[in-house]
Amino acid sequence: MNFANIAEMFRVLESTEARLEMTSIISNFLKTVPKNELRDVIYIIQGKLHPDFYQIEFGMADKLVLKTISLTSGVPYEIVENLWIKIGDPGEVAEKLIKEKKQITLFSEALSIARVVKNLKLIETCEGKESQILKTKYLASMLHDSGPVEAKYLCRIVSGKMRTGASIMTILDAITITFATKEERAEIERAFNITCDSGLIAETLARSGMRGIHAIHVKVGNPIKVMLAERLSSLSEIIDKMDGTCAIEYKYDGIRAQVHIGKNYVRIFSRRLEDLTNNFPDITKSLTNQFKGEEVIIEGECVAVNSETGQIQSFQEIVRRRRKYNITETVKDIPVKIFIFDMLYLNGTDLTSEPYPERRKLIEKWFNITGIIQISCMKIVHSMEEADKFFNNAIKERCEGIIAKSIGNESVYRAGSRGFLWIKYKKDYCGNFVDSFDLVVVGAFYGMGKRAGKYGALLMASYDSESGRYGTVCKLGTGFDDSFLDNMPSILNKYKSNEKPHLLDTKITPDIWFQPGIILEVVGAEVTISPNHAAGMNIIKEGSGIGIRFPRFTGRIRYDKEPEQSTTVSEMIQMYNVQFTNNSPST
Ligand code: AMP
Repeated sequence: MNFANIAEMFRVLESTEARLEMTSIISNFLKTVPKNELRDVIYIIQGKLHPDFYQIEFGMADKLVLKTISLTSGVPYEIVENLWIKIGDPGEVAEKLIKEKKQITLFSEALSIARVVKNLKLIETCEGKESQILKTKYLASMLHDSGPVEAKYLCRIVSGKMRTGASIMTILDAITITFATKEERAEIERAFNITCDSGLIAETLARSGMRGIHAIHVKVGNPIKVMLAERLSSLSEIIDKMDGTCAIEYKYDGIRAQVHIGKNYVRIFSRRLEDLTNNFPDITKSLTNQFKGEEVIIEGECVAVNSETGQIQSFQEIVRRRRKYNITETVKDIPVKIFIFDMLYLNGTDLTSEPYPERRKLIEKWFNITGIIQISCMKIVHSMEEADKFFNNAIKERCEGIIAKSIGNESVYRAGSRGFLWIKYKKDYCGNFVDSFDLVVVGAFYGMGKRAGKYGALLMASYDSESGRYGTVCKLGTGFDDSFLDNMPSILNKYKSNEKPHLLDTKITPDIWFQPGIILEVVGAEVTISPNHAAGMNIIKEGSGIGIRFPRFTGRIRYDKEPEQSTTVSEMIQMYNVQFTNNSPST
């Protein structure tokens, strides 16, 4: 198959924002893809060569791509760069200049997908002094044989800016309607949630149908989408929801780690599927030494501790462990512990369908719990009073709150889903601020006065899991300290966009747009009905969305969360309704 076919599909895809239409465009295309190329095609649709949990990047900054465009088109670099400053997207620059150059190119050979994959692999594996030159050479060879549309998407892929607007859920929808039935969507999604590999799912379905999907199991090396907790605003509601009895665990304020241990293999994945193995060599070593079996997948929270007292330290301490460089020093400076709270796989057996009490027992049985390897503090409670006492202890021990966990037969590990089998309750819920929200930055406004030359406020959005789109909920301008104000442009730079993100609904236009990527924790006084914001439009009131009153940044950048894991529109509506029953709503 030729790359021109996929590029043409991208062009059509970009012309719509409707999820159903996107699904059918992708599905019609997938029907034409040979089985042996399907896996690569699924990754390329997402601008990659591998599933998400491979941390390999093409390493081509915009300027290197511009240099290559200049070389292939014969247009002087300064002109290419000026065009880029105007347009902002190296892909569109390539499209424009290659269109002009094509009129004079005599010899070119059709660019196949196989050749694109081969060259992209060469680009991602280039290392050393010559790497920039080699990357340019491999990209130039593809651009030489590209039409304008192919060139546009090739340049977007290598510069990490491949944004067709199709989310992974839309791609899974398309895979489902191409190779299975809508009724089988849930089973297909489960297979995806336990492998995090959309290419594998598509190829399995195309080759062996649902039989193949049923044969997919949890495996060491394939991260599992994490299970998430719902929230309720009081302990009594939680106990009621759990039918009077449940387990409650300390909610540690740290970094979630999913650890995969196999024969000669150990990897730590974040909840965003990043590889954190190098950041926690101490945890990796102790877990491997203190595990008594052959293969296991566990989850736990890594927290920083005081080296003398062993007391849990704030979240700000543990995030310093996420550094890429000088890890050895950071490991010495910031001692940590992991509190294991779940086991998902053990010695060949998938435990995700076992009830919580069974999984919990296995943690104690198969790990030597001592030193930096700990198990989360847990108690089975039968009343609100017991829960309250445990919650107060959790706060005294410097935890964020508690997580209640169902202990019934249905208490399986639901990969990738948020439900009431786990319910969180944080100390923020007790103060003046009703709640904390994890919101996505989608825009910025230039500052004035003391903030001149910096960003003065940010436009924040939440994710609507039903529509797969983002909607704005507030402008955020408080809670920024000097260092955050100084660092904001560099933190957000990677997500800068010349146009409104494809998947964003908004009535407000900021000075700068950002693609969804960075999540900030925000507290607010109230969830309100807002005519200015687009999240949850028309759900509570015709013509209005929902917003947050008096939003304030808590200082926590949630690098561990993906944009789809931000506080969802339905969670916010639920919070609004809880307020409505507790107080009178403000509009
Ligand atoms: P939140 O980030 O507010 O959605 O809360 C869910 C997070 O709490 C999980 O992703 C874990 O990182 C963290 N957590 C801390 N302690 C526990 C625990 N005992 N069980 C489950 N999750 C926990």
